[in-house]
Amino acid sequence: MKLWRRLDVRLFASYALVALIVFGAFAITVRVVAPARFDDDVKTITSGETSKDESHNLYVDSLDSSLWFALAASFGAATIASVLVARRILRPVQDVRAATRRLANGHYDERVAVPGELELADLARDVNRLAIELQSTERRRARLVSEVAHEMRTPLTTIEGYVEGILDGVFEPNEEVLVAVGEEASRLQRLASDLAELSRAEEGAVALHPRIVDLDELAARCAERLRPQFVDKGVALRVHGGAPVPVDADPDRITQVLTNLLGNALTYTPTEGTVEVQVRREHDHATVVVRDTGIGLSPDDCELVFDRFYRVQGAVRPAGGSGIGLTIARGLARAHHGDIEATSPGVGAGSVFTLTLPVAHVEEPGISG
Ligand code: ADP
Repeated sequence: MKLWRRLDVRLFASYALVALIVFGAFAITVRVVAPARFDDDVKTITSGETSKDESHNLYVDSLDSSLWFALAASFGAATIASVLVARRILRPVQDVRAATRRLANGHYDERVAVPGELELADLARDVNRLAIELQSTERRRARLVSEVAHEMRTPLTTIEGYVEGILDGVFEPNEEVLVAVGEEASRLQRLASDLAELSRAEEGAVALHPRIVDLDELAARCAERLRPQFVDKGVALRVHGGAPVPVDADPDRITQVLTNLLGNALTYTPTEGTVEVQVRREHDHATVVVRDTGIGLSPDDCELVFDRFYRVQGAVRPAGGSGIGLTIARGLARAHHGDIEATSPGVGAGSVFTLTLPVAHVEEPGISG
């Protein structure tokens, strides 16, 4: 049955059908039409009223008209068969054309009916897949625009509130008020630069400059750079590692990811808590585990924290934190063919963020930081 749904089989069948009809037309001509004409002619010839030349012409005429009949019948059959076949093949192709035109006009809910012919069914399915992809890209775009608008509204409303307050004489334009306005303005600025980075990370369009680096050294350096902030807040920072772990990565981007993970661990861990950084090599992949004794995450939030603009409800919020940091960090890890996962024993019980990267296979790693 599947054979019959193939286009080449159907085309062959239609040509064979035309050949059969032509054969049938000739058969009818030779067996029915020609003998009848010939009988009439024979009667005329045998009546002795015609000369030899006239008899010859009568014979040729009768053959000619039989052949014309056969030609007309075959032509008719070929026309009917080709019209039917073309209509069958062209209808789905025209459906696909119409659908792509509607898709181009932004009607992303457009779907093509899948025809019976296998090859055309594949084409229709491909167009439908394209439509689904376009639809989801469009949905993501629309969601991003509304999320960005939502994120901008709070600082803008605050700034507007202060300015109106000053104009109405409710606030003094003193340093305190101006600092508050300035903070909201920088929050907007941070949002703008985060967004630019986010779109590059989500599209996988980040320019990476990978080289063989030691992940252990990278993590240790990043931790040391942030240590003063941990000391300030009274959170202990412990780094475990020591053995070189070569990875083929962009050191600046991986430092950015580690800074985000360590910065979050510090933000969400109260004073007297502990943050541990552990670099490990497991077969062909390397991991950096950042474990804190902070506020922890619910099982659902462990995945949701990677969604853009997602902030855990009720969690302590870092000033200006727009909930994009982990989205970008995961995008960067994935651009390195790695990933970031979050786990937590539960709310209040600390969280564990694990960055995984493929290990670089080098004989004698020319590792640099
Ligand atoms: P933000 O800029 O708001 O920190 P992130 O994308 O870095 O954005 O983090 C998203 C959310 O994930 C945070 O708002 C916070 O609620 C939660 N989160 C991130 N890291 C931790 C952590 N170590 N412990 C508990 N919650 C965390």
